Amino acid sequence: MHSDTTNILSGDTKKKGDTVKQRQAFFEKIKDKLIERQVELTRDIEFLAHDKPTDRQVMDSGDEALSLSLEKLQSSLEKTEIDELHLIDQALQRLQTGEYGVCIDCGEVISHQRLEYYPYAARCIVCQEATEAT
Ligand SMILES: [Zn+2]
Repeated sequence: MHSDTTNILSGDTKKKGDTVKQRQAFFEKIKDKLIERQVELTRDIEFLAHDKPTDRQVMDSGDEALSLSLEKLQSSLEKTEIDELHLIDQALQRLQTGEYGVCIDCGEVISHQRLEYYPYAARCIVCQEATEAT
């Protein structure tokens, strides 16, 4: 972790009530970031899908074992990326419907710091912690 983290955490939390305009500009920035990541992930997943070790010729049992573990690794990587794509989809949908940045549980506005750090957040930090604790 570098010093950015402390800036986010110690940032001006005292400042309340950003103007609607500021919030919209912030959401635009998030949207760009999400779309950029979406393109990146889609490209990665396509690459993984086309580069399955099973498609290659297996020469002997040693290679077979290797290719099996490689396949396992790739499919878990693929799953993580697909999961992330789902989160991006959901976040983009909420951006479109205007629900983005509002906690789906309590309806409180999610702080900019939290969204900047974790743009897929659908819950405020309090509800997120409550969800994870159960
Ligand atoms: Zn909440």
